Amino acid sequence: MIISRFNILKCFFLISLLFSTFGFAQKKFVLVLDAGHGGSDFGANRGYSDIGRVNEKDITLAITLKLGKLLEKNKDIKVIYTRTTDEYPSLTARTNLANRNKADLFISIHCNANDRSSPYGTETFVQGPDQNKTNLEVAKEENDVIFLNAEDKKTFSSYDPNSPESLIALKIQQSKYLEASLTLGSLVEDNFANKDKRLSRGVKQKNLHVLRLNAMPSILIETGFISNYDEAHYLVSEAGQNEIAQSIYDAIISYKNLKGNISTAETKPEEPKQPAEVPSKNDFRILLMSTPVKYDEGDPAFKGLNYILTIKENGLYKYYYSTTNMASIRDNNLKTAKDAGFRNAYAVGFIPNQTLGTGYYRIELAATKDKLSSNSYILNTLKGVDRNKEKGIFYYTYGKYNSLEQAVENQKDLEKRGIKNTVIEKVLK
Ligand SMILES: [Zn+2]
Repeated sequence: MIISRFNILKCFFLISLLFSTFGFAQKKFVLVLDAGHGGSDFGANRGYSDIGRVNEKDITLAITLKLGKLLEKNKDIKVIYTRTTDEYPSLTARTNLANRNKADLFISIHCNANDRSSPYGTETFVQGPDQNKTNLEVAKEENDVIFLNAEDKKTFSSYDPNSPESLIALKIQQSKYLEASLTLGSLVEDNFANKDKRLSRGVKQKNLHVLRLNAMPSILIETGFISNYDEAHYLVSEAGQNEIAQSIYDAIISYKNLKGNISTAETKPEEPKQPAEVPSKNDFRILLMSTPVKYDEGDPAFKGLNYILTIKENGLYKYYYSTTNMASIRDNNLKTAKDAGFRNAYAVGFIPNQTLGTGYYRIELAATKDKLSSNSYILNTLKGVDRNKEKGIFYYTYGKYNSLEQAVENQKDLEKRGIKNTVIEKVLK
């Protein structure tokens, strides 16, 4: 039989038409959005005299619905919600929904709260065994056993995170999705820090029920502290919720575009399993440079890098870029710094919440040749500002803090009050 050239072409055309018509075309990207808590589980909550009661369950739902609306505009994305109303699906139901739908991503939205002080900022968790025994608040809050119903208790009781078998099963599960989860988590946190100018507490690993049995890359985003007055107001506002939704949305789109380069079991089934990465006990920051010159935020000296922490020590300003407790992210950040042109940059480990044995941290408000006038904004706003003169320069300093974290929080507070470009100084005695 002779097949004409025309027939072959026609045949190709028909086959390609069949492929595109009957779903051989690209599969939709399936995303499960999980609004944390709901129904009788209010999550974190606080009362304020001006805005009334603020409930985590309401904020997580509002942000989730706003995020979903943005995502649904993309034809190649399918959004599945664990809840769209004020109800409480069990954690097992949330996981099962995601697994059954073979979701590509699971994103759980939450808010933080803290009783002891009023910390603020965002943080994103990926599934992992708890390493840092001193910092279990999130795991406790988000895993509150009161809200594990009978089904959940059955699901999770067989799961003792301290047993070696569970740990092995968990590590196998994690190893498949950890890299992808970490990537998405850092995209989210980067957006919060860089686009929204919020305090990012970084990407961390925690053993959380709602992520534990998910068979896909999964993250839990703590979008802010309800216990912090300013952040509670931000979280209940339309503008705040829209900003958060937009930042998560942008991160998802970047992740989706990157996905070809991220290894998961789904995309590369034959790849040998990597052992799960264990978070370090240290926070890592990348030291870009150490110099007697003070640079303000956005200075070209930073070569376009944002999220710089400056610590002054022995008269030298040390400029650190990014923070993480994951070695893989640290290595990425170091590469980013080197690529930007900081060829001598290196990673420095910090022990979280370490108090100085001898000495303290304070905030350098200004370093200037001319004395600040007594009705300057700084001196008018703050009480207890110290002044020192050294080599013809007046140094104005403020506060006394035991840990770097405390100093950072107070520095951010000052920033909100309009006192910018301050430097944290480590004073050793
Ligand atoms: Zn929560």
